[in-house]
Amino acid sequence: MSVSTSQFPVTKIAHSRIGEVDPANIQFGKIYSDHMLVAHYEDGEWKQPEIMPFSNLSLSPATTFMHYGQAIFEGIKAYKDPQGNPIIFRPQDNWKRMNKSAERMALPYVPEDIFVDGIRQLVNLDKAWIPTSEDTSLYIRPFLFAVDEFIGVRPAEKFMFIIITSPAGPYYSKPVSIYVQDQYVRAFPGGIGYTKAAGNYGMSMYPTAQIKAMGYDQILWTDGFEHKYVQEIGTMNVFFKLGDKVITPDLSQGTILAGVTRDSVITLLREKGVTVEERRLSIDEIQAAYRAGELKEAFGTGTAASIAPIRALTYHDETMELPALETWETANFLKKELADIRYGRKEDTHGWIVRA
Ligand SMILES: *Cc1c(COP(=O)(O)O)cnc(C)c1O
Repeated sequence: MSVSTSQFPVTKIAHSRIGEVDPANIQFGKIYSDHMLVAHYEDGEWKQPEIMPFSNLSLSPATTFMHYGQAIFEGIKAYKDPQGNPIIFRPQDNWKRMNKSAERMALPYVPEDIFVDGIRQLVNLDKAWIPTSEDTSLYIRPFLFAVDEFIGVRPAEKFMFIIITSPAGPYYSKPVSIYVQDQYVRAFPGGIGYTKAAGNYGMSMYPTAQIKAMGYDQILWTDGFEHKYVQEIGTMNVFFKLGDKVITPDLSQGTILAGVTRDSVITLLREKGVTVEERRLSIDEIQAAYRAGELKEAFGTGTAASIAPIRALTYHDETMELPALETWETANFLKKELADIRYGRKEDTHGWIVRA
């Protein structure tokens, strides 16, 4: 898809660390590939990005993002097609989203060549790091943060954009148990809920640790006013199948991250003729459907987890158990369809695949 082919200067690693990877047991986010891309923004412009060996950074203790949180990130995956060629799933969509986050967080606009071509060049260089078995991929993490050496409070003027990559296995190995959160709040209209800002994760750690101690995997956040309209799950958007309709919260309040996987799922389902509603969905409506035997499926969607089936949903003292996963037509269809497109086994009719 992308026609631009910027090539950035490369300093190659002396000895690859690829031998450290055990292909049979890849854990998410534990090991990083040989190279990274680093770009500096200063005096109102981006300097020439460089690809170099993955290594530690040296930063002043007064570096702004550490104090005031001007930091955002993205998450993308690369796969190998049956011929062994690297393919990247929808990187332009992540590029556009990163710039939406950047605007809200007063971070500079990242040009498409630095983001998309940078990913392509990096993935090509480290293509030996893309695992090939089912449910594995190379996770790509671009991030952008403020690096002024100044602890006064004002929007920063110096920034760094970095891309690192990491071989990834399955994110959740089994269906997840979800706790409906109505005490802590993730996002309000006018806030930063729609951005992939580091702070959205920082603020979720304490409530997540509490529900993990209670035996749940993730939080389903509710709205900040009435605490009853469902929003999204930790790192994923959320879909419910009530009867034969698929429902997901709409994005109009700016409190939900517009997932690329969410968009892919809506597109694939509508093409298949399934009714998908993007609208407000209350926990009361989900509970009523459950009691009527109409809560058929519930799943999270995200780049890291792809489709993550929910086995149980706990709200106050009621736990709603979902039917056995084998009966789930929608989630099982989506998981297979998305995998076939991502691994290049099925024709890409949407322009989602970008070759490295
Ligand atoms: C990244 C993310 C998602 C999923 O987005 P994808 O583009 O599908 O990976 C959902 N919710 C939050 C809060 C996220 O940060």
